[in-house]
Amino acid sequence: MGGANHVSLFAVPQNASSIPAATPAAPAGKARAGAAAAASPARKALEKLGLTRDIDLALHLPLRYEDETRITAIASARTGEVAQIEAVVTASEVQLHPRRMLKVMVDDGSATCELTFFSFYPSHRKALAVGERLRIRGEVKGGFWGRQMLHPAFRKAGGDLPSALTPVYPTTAQLPQAYLRRAIATALARVQLPETVPHALAPPLPGWGSAGAGGWTLRDALIFLHHPTPDVALATLQDHSHPAWQRLKAEELLAQQLAQLTARRARERLQAPQLRAAAGDGALGAQLRALLPFALTGAQERVVREIAADLADHRPMHRLLQGDVGSGKTIVAALAACVCIDAGWQCALMAPTEILAEQHFAKLVDWLAPLLAARGQCVAWLAGGQKKKERSAMLELVASGAAALVVGTHAVIQEQVQFARLGLAVIDEQHRFGVAQRLQLRKKLDHQGREPHLLMMSATPIPRTLAMSYYADLDVSTIDELPPGRTPVVTKLIADSRRDEVVQRIALQLAAGRQVYWVCPLIEESEALDLTNATATHAELSEALPGVAVGLLHSRMPAAEKKAVMDAFKAGQMGVLVSTTVIEVGVDVPNASLMVIEHAERFGLSQLHQLRGRVGRGSAASACVLLYSVGDNGRLGESARERLKAMLETADGFEIARRDLEIRGPGEFLGARQSGDALLRFADLAQDGALLTWARESAPRMLDTHPQLAQAHLQRWLGGRADFLKA
Ligand code: ADP
Ligand code: MG
Repeated sequence: MGGANHVSLFAVPQNASSIPAATPAAPAGKARAGAAAAASPARKALEKLGLTRDIDLALHLPLRYEDETRITAIASARTGEVAQIEAVVTASEVQLHPRRMLKVMVDDGSATCELTFFSFYPSHRKALAVGERLRIRGEVKGGFWGRQMLHPAFRKAGGDLPSALTPVYPTTAQLPQAYLRRAIATALARVQLPETVPHALAPPLPGWGSAGAGGWTLRDALIFLHHPTPDVALATLQDHSHPAWQRLKAEELLAQQLAQLTARRARERLQAPQLRAAAGDGALGAQLRALLPFALTGAQERVVREIAADLADHRPMHRLLQGDVGSGKTIVAALAACVCIDAGWQCALMAPTEILAEQHFAKLVDWLAPLLAARGQCVAWLAGGQKKKERSAMLELVASGAAALVVGTHAVIQEQVQFARLGLAVIDEQHRFGVAQRLQLRKKLDHQGREPHLLMMSATPIPRTLAMSYYADLDVSTIDELPPGRTPVVTKLIADSRRDEVVQRIALQLAAGRQVYWVCPLIEESEALDLTNATATHAELSEALPGVAVGLLHSRMPAAEKKAVMDAFKAGQMGVLVSTTVIEVGVDVPNASLMVIEHAERFGLSQLHQLRGRVGRGSAASACVLLYSVGDNGRLGESARERLKAMLETADGFEIARRDLEIRGPGEFLGARQSGDALLRFADLAQDGALLTWARESAPRMLDTHPQLAQAHLQRWLGGRADFLKA
């Protein structure tokens, strides 16, 4: 490398064409003089990126590289290519038409090239004066008037060419690339990188930990990835197949497994109440079963047993109950609650939103409330929108223990809520809670030296690789069978231009006494827009279907109003329900037989699957219509096409989840918006199965045989972020 000097002179943004003309780049000289003053915001930006320790910086790998190791003759530079040239300025002038710009002509003896700057300072003019010999880097554009570069980076010629590729790091606006490069180079030179993985546990990679035998030490791997030699096959860096990358991925996966295993072992040392149901007909669970209009499926019985076994243990349960939409998770949760209450403890049930909490648990409360009342106990409801008076009454019931069952949103785990004896917490749609909320929950649960049991439920099955990695700290129960009597849903893909036919189809369903959902997409950037959308559709359908009650439900309606609409639809007083995605999960109206999803191309795959699960709940033949609109180019985007294709091809929740993972990556499964920290940065579960298996097998052995190395390894990779993995 040409050292810091080289880097700082190239501080002019590389992708200069993206600079708006209105905000001229700072002159190079000033930028350097102001470096000290700039250090503080830059350091803050580093912190924001989580780059506080030397090791964090060393592990902040380039997005891509620039080749500044060669000088290209202007005559042989190809159009569209980024090239570095060395040439002398032969002309330099400021033009005012059609707008103000600096035009500079350079010549390297092979040909000339014109440089254009729309934003420039006097210092630029000086540096680009006639006679100056410069090293210039930018994208070559061929024009009628000859070769050109727009806002190229430049510096005075001279000095050695760097011998390694120049890294380009992911960064933010407050953190100049040059500053970041210096910070990383310094950290990399200084950081301690002892090998942590014992030889006996070496991953399936050649020559692990030794510089010879084709192997890579961590130090070599990092130095190489920050500054690869120009002869490297760039594709192997891009697709992370290069041995230096493999080495990092193995370490990262191991760190993740160690973190989860550590969390698991720590939890297993905690004490939870051992919850056993009363025996015989007097048991709450037996009473509940007697009320059910159906018998549990084999799969439900199995998971009920798995959960009961956990509850009876002195180690706190940490179990995920997964089952497709409509597989009947609620009754399983109810039976778990019965065991807990029978044993004399309180049970908390939570859903991510008020409407979901209400819908998910309404039936359960209907069933249990009378049974509890007969025992002198009650159900408490806790939600954000509650009146103060009602809320304090509820808090009182929770604190006294009179409320055996506490149902609500995350209000259930807020500061002021004190449980008398919390034995079991059930979280529905757990992935929709943010990481911070899940951490808060764990804190809440950790009280009085006794940890309650935790049951999480999800209708989005977690693909096996994810279960093995991110959820290694969880036990998983799966309901892999739907209750009998469900009719398969026919799925149809229809262009929005044929909307009229769909409306006719709705009329037919209504005439047969059925009900219909019409879902409009939630437009994330603008709640107002999705309201407009839904309102327009509501008006359109009301007009097209005279005499039919068409309801409207959207995200900004007050909870009471939402409830009134839902109740009317449930009671059959409404033929059509137009809504934004608020009905995404949890609605149970067996008489609804048609689901129309407008702009289906905008929905995520698991969302579509969940919505489709809202119909086919009764005995009537049901259908799901995916209305799609193509973009301006007359086509669907690729991932939209993949999603819709998957919907047509399969109704199996696991297959859907697998494809979803393929299309989107793991982020969404984990609520990545909040938990980016906990995500794997380097490894890719779809590609690195072998390394994942190695990491899984090695983590327990390493913890047992080399606990100190395991700690060092965890510190290196996770530092202060280990907490997130517990959530
Ligand atoms: P989900 O797993 O999506 O939460 P629910 O618990 O809401 O599913 O159950 C969906 C519907 O199926 C409910 O109406 C529920 O009462 C019913 N149900 C659950 N288990 C059975 C069963 N074994 N037989 C018949 N119906 C069942
Ligand atoms: Mg449910």
